Amino acid sequence: MKRTPLKRSVRLKSARRSPIRRKKASDYVKRKKKTKIGILREWLVPIGIDSVRFKGNMLRSVYWYWLSRDVRKSEWEKWDKLCLTCLRPIENWEDGHCGHVIASAGCGEYLRFHRSNLTLQHAACNSDRITPMAAALNAIHYDERYGKGAWDKLYALRKIDCKEPKQSEYPDLIRALPSYQEALLKNGKSALESPQEAVSLT
Ligand SMILES: [Zn+2]
Repeated sequence: MKRTPLKRSVRLKSARRSPIRRKKASDYVKRKKKTKIGILREWLVPIGIDSVRFKGNMLRSVYWYWLSRDVRKSEWEKWDKLCLTCLRPIENWEDGHCGHVIASAGCGEYLRFHRSNLTLQHAACNSDRITPMAAALNAIHYDERYGKGAWDKLYALRKIDCKEPKQSEYPDLIRALPSYQEALLKNGKSALESPQEAVSLT
């Protein structure tokens, strides 16, 4: 069939529109998506064998990474290097685990990231399989550290109604952690150079 002038004109119009189409919001969002490794790098998380543990909500994982370091180091200094569960020393806080006094599975969202429920433990003491008595020992030793009834008070907090932070709230939560601030300094960066917005994953 012969082309008509009308058809040519339609094609030209669409060609003229194409640069505008490229600027559509959805395309812009697509370009802003980052890879898992990209997000870890951006938040100064060392890339290594441990990186496989980061999955699902990446900003939540990054928050946990820096919070865990913060808890382990400060608890190690505060409690004479001792593990809450077995009360034996942990030579290097980096080798310990950041564990939950009331296990993560039953502590509720409020206590899951709350410092009062986070402690330094040996990896083995943070394993139900290896140390089935851990929950009971944690309760006894928690009261010894913080006073009689402290564990009961902590346990009552699990019922507090609390939702996970919004994606947009994680950057500020991460930036507030001394462990992350130290990492920024070590890398010669200021807080302004840390990521300013929540990201989506490719
Ligand atoms: Zn231990």
